[in-house]
Amino acid sequence: MTFDTDVLVVGAGPVGLALAIELGMQGRRCIVVERHDRVGYAPRAKTTNVRSRELLRRWGIADRLAAASPFGVDYPSNIVFATRLAGCELTRFANAFYCAPVRDERFAEHAQWIPQYKVEEVLRSRAVEFPGVELRFATSLADWTDLTDGVDARIVDLPTGSASRIRARYLVGADGARSTVREQLGIRMEGRSPLSHHHNIIFRAAGLAATHRLGPAVMYWLVNGEVPAVIAPLDNDDRWTFGANKLGEADSNPEALIRAALGPGIDVDIDIVSRDEWTAHQLIAESYRKGNVFLAGDACHLHPPFGGHGMNMGIGDAVDLGWKIAAVLEGWGGAALLDSYEIERRPIHRRVVDEAVVNLGFSSHGLVLEGIEDEGPAGDAVRARAAAQIQETKRREFDSLGVVLGSAYGASPVLSGEAVEPRLQESTNFKPDARAGSRAPHAWLEGGTARGASLFDHFATSAMTLLVTAGGPKAATAAQSAAAEARIPLMVAAAFDRPELRALYQARFALIRPDQHIAWRGDDIHEAGAMLARAAGRIPSKTQEITT
Ligand SMILES: Cc1cc2nc3c(=O)[nH]c(=O)nc-3n(C[C@H](O)[C@H](O)[C@H](O)COP(=O)(O)OP(=O)(O)OC[C@H]3O[C@@H](n4cnc5c(N)ncnc54)[C@H](O)[C@@H]3O)c2cc1C
Repeated sequence: MTFDTDVLVVGAGPVGLALAIELGMQGRRCIVVERHDRVGYAPRAKTTNVRSRELLRRWGIADRLAAASPFGVDYPSNIVFATRLAGCELTRFANAFYCAPVRDERFAEHAQWIPQYKVEEVLRSRAVEFPGVELRFATSLADWTDLTDGVDARIVDLPTGSASRIRARYLVGADGARSTVREQLGIRMEGRSPLSHHHNIIFRAAGLAATHRLGPAVMYWLVNGEVPAVIAPLDNDDRWTFGANKLGEADSNPEALIRAALGPGIDVDIDIVSRDEWTAHQLIAESYRKGNVFLAGDACHLHPPFGGHGMNMGIGDAVDLGWKIAAVLEGWGGAALLDSYEIERRPIHRRVVDEAVVNLGFSSHGLVLEGIEDEGPAGDAVRARAAAQIQETKRREFDSLGVVLGSAYGASPVLSGEAVEPRLQESTNFKPDARAGSRAPHAWLEGGTARGASLFDHFATSAMTLLVTAGGPKAATAAQSAAAEARIPLMVAAAFDRPELRALYQARFALIRPDQHIAWRGDDIHEAGAMLARAAGRIPSKTQEITT
């Protein structure tokens, strides 16, 4: 069978675009079909987290995303809780999600507050720079036949209605919550749904940011008995987003609700731009693959957006799946690599979905206490109690590095035996971990080097990296010979002259995969050589129970 492309990706949301970039960067070909006529319809995600921006740095576009920031990356990522926008401040979280553009030893990139439509545009702009990547808008996947060696898909050009075929080695459904691919595979979503229904209003209000005394913030949680709500600046054209459960009431008047939530004394023109309805779920697909077809992103996991994980987790799926497919197509990756996608990602999805459901339990109406807007000492006492409760229950939502960086893969056919259980750290208590399965611990290299100031800049993106934490490249010779013999691409990162690296990794050597996760670490270089075949998926996977 001859193929038109290596991978047919369905959907140019953030996950399909991320997969296209990953495949393009690995030198592979893909066609992305998207039924919309362009990217960027979704005003949904605002948080691009620390890990996604590390991956964007790996793709060379972290700075491009920073430049697209509507308020600039210096804009403070405060989250303020108040009774109304014109009311009393209750409490606040500074530097939510770690958006402050400061150097932190634990990660290579800060997070960023930026609307999803801007993220998608930056991802699109990068994807089309790769000669092997083709984006086809206003094009829908209709159906496909899974053949032994690939898929034969029928796609429809929506403006003309004309159908054509694309033959690809693999097909990936990155086609969102109502995934056609998942449906046609007959894969069910398991879990609880619906948890709740929500309505967001996008509106314009010139000068609103200057009307209150709460100071700049990325979100204002308005905790009052009349219209508990969340309001957030979305873009630099006075565009805001407003969410309140009461918007669901049939006779609701969104402008009146927004005015009530703002509170007395704020008199601005409100121009409703659009309405976005969404449902909170706690759902994971019963499997992520059938034959040559995979699912990624919202197509295989759905959870409430509280904590800002959905798009970010999907970008993680795209990188995990993308380098593995590319390695298999290049010929150095074995079948176990593709088996490992679901084995590694599912426990992470389960963890994040559960975390987001906990966060949903503390939405703004659930935080209201009787008398919260009362005047005088009695009201002050209620507000102090509310503030304490908010600090106790909401911190994990805005300070979640333990989830974002600390979720390590467990038993997987491509990781050393050290990766036994998925290790899921406490949300607010991230500790760098160098055991196999973890995202590699980060370090800044003093003053930088020719390749970059972050240790991650020294990791290969399309090959395995052998990190030598103490000593020069000669120490890696045995592993290099093993790699050459097995024809597995291996790059050596050594001679950093940083004694702390050995302490950080607690080993002399670490084998780092293209996705910056650790496959093995140890002090015996011969073990590293032997481990390469496993890390490349050349050792057939045993039937493995997937831990959920
Ligand atoms: C209110 C709200 C706030 C959120 N905030 C955050 C946040 O701060 N951070 C975060 O990480 N996540 C957030 N999310 C979640 C985030 O929006 C989603 O997780 C993300 O959009 C999923 O990306 P995706 O590419 O998997 O799917 P989608 O974005 O849904 O993209 C799928 C694409 O596939 C296309 N498609 C579908 N079927 C076909 C077909 N047959 N043929 C061709 N194309 C097809 C669709 O048109 C669509 O463009 C939020 C969600 C909501 C509702």
